[in-house]
Amino acid sequence: MAARVETDVLIAGLGPVGAMLALLLARSGLTVTVVERDSEVYPLPRAAHIDHEVMRLLHLVGAADPVLKASSPLPAYEFRNGAGALLMGFSPGVEDAPTGFPPSSMFHQPTLEHGLRAAIANDPRIDAHINTALTTFTATDDGVIATITDAQGPREVRAKFLVGCDGGASVVRKLSQIALDDLGFDEPWLVIDTVLKNNVQALSAIGLQHCDPRRPVTSMPMGPGRHRWEFMMLPGETADDVMSDEALNRLVAPYADPASLTIERRAVYRFHAVSAQSWRKSRVLLCGDAAHQMPPFMGQGLCSGIRDAANLAWKIAAVHKGEAAPSLLDTYQSEREPHVRAITDIAVFLGRIVCVQNVDEAAARDAQMTTPCEADRVSMLPPLPGLGTGIMAGHASAGQVAPAPRLCDGRRLDDVIGYVPFLITREKGLLSGFAAQGRIIALSEIDDAAQHWSKLLGDNEAILVRPDRFIFGLGATRDLLSHWDDYLQSRRAA
Ligand SMILES: Cc1cc2nc3c(=O)[nH]c(=O)nc-3n(C[C@H](O)[C@H](O)[C@H](O)COP(=O)(O)OP(=O)(O)OC[C@H]3O[C@@H](n4cnc5c(N)ncnc54)[C@H](O)[C@@H]3O)c2cc1C
Repeated sequence: MAARVETDVLIAGLGPVGAMLALLLARSGLTVTVVERDSEVYPLPRAAHIDHEVMRLLHLVGAADPVLKASSPLPAYEFRNGAGALLMGFSPGVEDAPTGFPPSSMFHQPTLEHGLRAAIANDPRIDAHINTALTTFTATDDGVIATITDAQGPREVRAKFLVGCDGGASVVRKLSQIALDDLGFDEPWLVIDTVLKNNVQALSAIGLQHCDPRRPVTSMPMGPGRHRWEFMMLPGETADDVMSDEALNRLVAPYADPASLTIERRAVYRFHAVSAQSWRKSRVLLCGDAAHQMPPFMGQGLCSGIRDAANLAWKIAAVHKGEAAPSLLDTYQSEREPHVRAITDIAVFLGRIVCVQNVDEAAARDAQMTTPCEADRVSMLPPLPGLGTGIMAGHASAGQVAPAPRLCDGRRLDDVIGYVPFLITREKGLLSGFAAQGRIIALSEIDDAAQHWSKLLGDNEAILVRPDRFIFGLGATRDLLSHWDDYLQSRRAA
């Protein structure tokens, strides 16, 4: 066996979630070894939608710019029946959210993955091994001893923590004997990504679900020069029936001239909803698709995995440095799972509207959904859920995502302070304990022309924001800091 590797955290899988976690852990001062089984980023069509909260998290690790360049804001998302009547519509709009990014953007997943890998290549704390698989591991009292295998053979890695970011078929999950709960959705779809010819930038600005029982179809812009279609498979249809160029051209023809585009990637998936029963076994954790999967009707699978990474990295770092009790890691699943489930429930609900192939059922659905006048069928995109725990009770804004402030000199606070907690306070007092972990900012240092912060603060003295940008609480500074310390040390349920 080749020389042994020692690291603070071993990550299995360099998909978007493993890459994000590696960057956040490294930004928190830990050494990271990440192993990726494949030689290239995943070649099949996957995520096309990203929300503003997640774009902001990508910005925190310096990976948002390439994504923004290759993305377009999504002004509207519509569900129409077979005759083209509007069943339901959402208008996220294109104005930046208080996070500083458009509410919804359509993008190209490989661009995001290359952006994350470029950031990883520049981070000396991350040791990335491509073409290298995690094959087995043993949990010890203070970490794991794992075997990673590349073309040269197996090698031992000793790590204080192992995180499985190894996707839906997670080896870490299987070796940990963690079962999946089936959340009751399982439908086969064909997905194709296309590149538009002749410098055409977009076929449509909006996302569309054609809820036609003869063949439900999703049509989505994917950022400049690209378009995605998803076709629900009909009963008895096989992948071989739909994957040939001829079959794809026939499927695309009602929506675009097949000669005007190149089919870049094609795949048949089963869209399903599952959640791992446990996301942590001592010092072994699951993140992203390894922990949960949902159908893509909300465009939130990858977004949820990035949120997992943002929830987990600072907790691992705090436990590793002795700043928090090991039981803080229990809050990872208790905070993240309800959030993911709430979004999965909406995705499944939307999927059930779309995936109707019975003509009578579709007619009943259409009659019910077109009862309100058309204007009443359109709404803002439902707000994403907040955190239900891991916050200080007593204020409605606790658990919501904080706006992204700019300092009076124009810089984003996120750029200046990075992935640490921050306290915005009316009076900057002597708060040396907190200053060791996070940053204290006076309200007067912030450009608050839009009054996001003064409105949020109201009569309160201060607001404490977690590293993952969820608001921990508002109130008197000393109360906030005492609750924060109790939360880190698991002294009382936050
Ligand atoms: C058709 C479709 C559309 C989607 N649309 C959206 C969308 O619009 N928005 C959205 O947010 N999400 C969407 N998703 C979901 C999103 O693509 C996934 O949630 C996301 O890719 C999961 O990222 P991950 O890093 O957890 O896993 P993956 O991307 O699967 O990465 C896991 C990595 O682990 C590696 N690996 C596996 N086993 C090992 C091992 N033993 N050792 C080392 N490496 C290993 C794999 O090679 C892989 O690179 C969509 C998915 C599909 C299929």
